[in-house]
Amino acid sequence: MNTQPAVIVGAGHSGAKAAAALRKHGWTGDITLVGDEPHAPYDRPPLSKAVLLGKKSSDQCAFFPNSWFDDNNIGLRLGTSVARIDRQNKRVVLADGEDVPYGKLLLATGSAFNRLTLPGAELDGVWPLRTPQHADAIARSLKTGLRVVVIGAGVIGLEVAAAAVELGCDVHVLEIAPYAMGRSLPLAVSEALVAEHRSRGVDVRFGVRLASLEGKEAVSAVHFEGGETIACDVVVYGVGVRPRTELAEAAGLAVDNGIVVNPLLQTEDPDIFACGDVCRYKSRIFGSALRLENWRNAEDQADTVARNMLGQEKAFDEVPWFWSNQYDFALQVAGLPTLGEITIPATSGAARLFLSVTADGALRGASAIGPVRDVASPIRKLKAAIARDETLDIRTTGSSSANVDALLQN
Ligand SMILES: Cc1cc2nc3c(=O)[nH]c(=O)nc-3n(C[C@H](O)[C@H](O)[C@H](O)COP(=O)(O)OP(=O)(O)OC[C@H]3O[C@@H](n4cnc5c(N)ncnc54)[C@H](O)[C@@H]3O)c2cc1C
Repeated sequence: MNTQPAVIVGAGHSGAKAAAALRKHGWTGDITLVGDEPHAPYDRPPLSKAVLLGKKSSDQCAFFPNSWFDDNNIGLRLGTSVARIDRQNKRVVLADGEDVPYGKLLLATGSAFNRLTLPGAELDGVWPLRTPQHADAIARSLKTGLRVVVIGAGVIGLEVAAAAVELGCDVHVLEIAPYAMGRSLPLAVSEALVAEHRSRGVDVRFGVRLASLEGKEAVSAVHFEGGETIACDVVVYGVGVRPRTELAEAAGLAVDNGIVVNPLLQTEDPDIFACGDVCRYKSRIFGSALRLENWRNAEDQADTVARNMLGQEKAFDEVPWFWSNQYDFALQVAGLPTLGEITIPATSGAARLFLSVTADGALRGASAIGPVRDVASPIRKLKAAIARDETLDIRTTGSSSANVDALLQN
């Protein structure tokens, strides 16, 4: 039983799910969920997939029906920004000056997309992709025969490219780094993924330095530093995000590429917690501090943090996992494949697997590309193997290895 008020800053994925978990696990006090976006909490992944393809409207991405908040006695304050945390008096101050007292405070402020800073980035037809407004605008502008430039070969850029191809657009993907999704994938997996795009006619280029975007009102071309130009009708960019740590920092909490928390997802102030994209926690499995930007992490941390706000003392230690859908295949990734020095290829049904191991064989990550039905099961088993800290016999690399097969049998 907990009758104190809980305040959650950020009515996004992890904030909303934490509110639900607090109620589910027995929080009886007031719960106030404050979000600066105008929308009730929604699921972001469909924005770069089903919404672009016209298979789902952005309104259909809401996590809960509107009545759910009243039914669960959760005070939802939308379009409202928290301006300050007053730790001494245990209250948050909203942008309009109103105070909201808390017993426990959860910071679930997520991340903000990096804006494109090139000259011409403000032209019509140039879009980031983070919110329903962005997704609706891009979906309206992707039409058969249009020329689309995607800046950034991260997961969002590649999903936009896949959707644009499916809609009959002519697509170029321009990336400054030497390969795609370099922060989360080893080279071999990235190459396999890019090959899928190229085989569908996408022009994917790496090491591209852009100089400017051109257009009268709407964008009509992108210019490279070396002088080359690509004519285009639409530009979509995905050039990374940064954690929204401003509030925590101003409140004197430790921030280091994310809000620093202990294994209970608690900051050094025992009444303030953090979860989701903004949270930097110490992973026992990997022995280092991690900040993850994915759906599963938002989901899992929301549940754990709610339990800890209720005093259950549950350490968070999940193996990272994320997915992406592109064309007719899924990419699923468990663990941290970029920590591997060797990539061992394998197959499972129609899925291509890539196991990432250290020089002494420790399994650090696994990636799979293929139909979702063939990808999900081996990745689940390999995720469990990463949690068990399995070691592989790297002398048997090749099309597969004996103990990879054994891991997949389990
Ligand atoms: C287009 C897109 C597609 C994605 N696809 C995938 C995918 O396929 N697979 C996958 O694993 N992950 C995917 N993700 C990532 C996943 O959606 C995020 O990791 C997840 O949303 C993080 O949840 P969060 O609660 O930390 O942040 P968010 O959901 O961003 O919520 C944070 C909220 O806090 C609000 N906020 C911040 N500061 C304040 C303040 N001071 N006052 C009030 N409100 C504030 C923000 O406006 C935001 O609404 C995708 C993300 C995007 C954008």
